[in-house]
Amino acid sequence: MDEYYLPWDEAWHITTNTCCYTNHTIMAEALEKWPVDLFQRLLPRIYQIVDEINRRFVDQIMRQYSGSAGIDVQAKIRSMAILYDNQVKMAHLAIVGGHSVNGVAKLHTEILKKRELKDFYEMMPEKFNNKTNGITQRRFLMHANPLLADWVTEKIGDEWITDLSQMDKLKDFVNDKKAQTEFMEIKLKNKERLAAYIYEHNGVKVDPKSIFDVQVKRLHEYKRQLLNILTVMYKYHDIKTHPAKDVYPKTYIFGAKAAAGYLTAKLTIKLINSVAEVINNDPDIKGKIKVVFIEDYRVSKAELIFAAADVSEQISTASKEASGTGNMKMMLNGAVTLGTLDGANVEIVNEVGEENAFIFGLSSQEVMDYERNGNYNPMDIYNSDPNVKIALDMLIDGTFSKDKELFRPLYDCLLHKVGSNKADQYFILKDFESYMEAQKRISDAYADKKRWAKMALMNTACCGKFSSDRTIQEYVDEVWHLDKLQVEIK
Ligand SMILES: *Cc1c(COP(=O)(O)O)cnc(C)c1O
Repeated sequence: MDEYYLPWDEAWHITTNTCCYTNHTIMAEALEKWPVDLFQRLLPRIYQIVDEINRRFVDQIMRQYSGSAGIDVQAKIRSMAILYDNQVKMAHLAIVGGHSVNGVAKLHTEILKKRELKDFYEMMPEKFNNKTNGITQRRFLMHANPLLADWVTEKIGDEWITDLSQMDKLKDFVNDKKAQTEFMEIKLKNKERLAAYIYEHNGVKVDPKSIFDVQVKRLHEYKRQLLNILTVMYKYHDIKTHPAKDVYPKTYIFGAKAAAGYLTAKLTIKLINSVAEVINNDPDIKGKIKVVFIEDYRVSKAELIFAAADVSEQISTASKEASGTGNMKMMLNGAVTLGTLDGANVEIVNEVGEENAFIFGLSSQEVMDYERNGNYNPMDIYNSDPNVKIALDMLIDGTFSKDKELFRPLYDCLLHKVGSNKADQYFILKDFESYMEAQKRISDAYADKKRWAKMALMNTACCGKFSSDRTIQEYVDEVWHLDKLQVEIK
């Protein structure tokens, strides 16, 4: 308007036909809300425009809903206005100022429509659509796992490099004994490659024949690395107290970074390292379980890790993970998912079949119901489930730290309200037993070599949907409406 002298309506037409909004998370901390006074001071002209966009939008809400029976217009304004409570709500601005709103997995988009952005969906349903995330097979198979990439090409040709749906053809080999053996030999080589890296960087000897159980992702409470390490702590106690018990050897591999100011996340990393130190050096354990924390988690490390994973830990509190993409990278490389029905895990299980994944825990609906009703009490579980009590008490009895108070904040946030956070807001205790039971199913399945080879191979064979080529094509066709440009290669 200022530079090209466009009238409002024309500028607004260009804006709304140009912009589109992809929501990547429903975690409140990631949805930008700026104080009006700050915004106004730093961006005075932009603020004037935002104010006018908001005025027109609030007008539109009133026109649309005034006089409609049973509709509280003020409540609609409260939940949808761009300027409210002295805040600029950037997500609301993006929805109003664009022609498309999408989530990044089916479940996530449904949660946006039914919960988080319900009022927007009711007012402008035509803007809403889903674009399930994807990953690139060029980096996460061709580059990261050359042994498997070459094997796949040998079996089905090389079209998968630009058309991942071709992986489907591997289904012909899932019951083929020779193919199963070759597939698992490649996995073993990749595990040896990672074991060498771990020995060099952590000084820990891990057995490539053990189950490589992998959780690598940003450290966040909703991703529940704490649930994982608590069950490791429980198993440590179990092996110590029942030394004769048969356990399938397992290597727990973690990788994560914590945001600079996120204390609980940093303390969780400290806990994982402390547990690793004790378990890896306890002769009573006889190497049955090992714990490794890989430093400086990033894509170059991730490539090495994904290729070597047997089990892909995707254990977020149901409803919290928008999509996840680590889950897809590990599936591509023949890891079996141990997860909740959250984010893209739902679609992964749909593709691979529930017999080829290990699913546990509360459903997203159950989580959202507990959140709404406020009727979850983790203390009841602590008091009634002796296994949970054993694991939690080890946080504060000095088993993993000379300073018994070091991990007290983790113990407290599981059992008590801390600040504005409810006790165990991510339902770790609630899912503890069902997670342990799923891990037991994994050890049993892994012990059956043929069964595991088939499951792992099925995961690679069924990953076709999760290429970012498919995702980008959907954006091109349904959101950006771009024409194809033919590039001549001379
Ligand atoms: C894929 C990837 C992620 C995302 O992992 P999620 O398990 O989906 O959270 C994060 N960091 C790196 C380095 C990755 O490669």
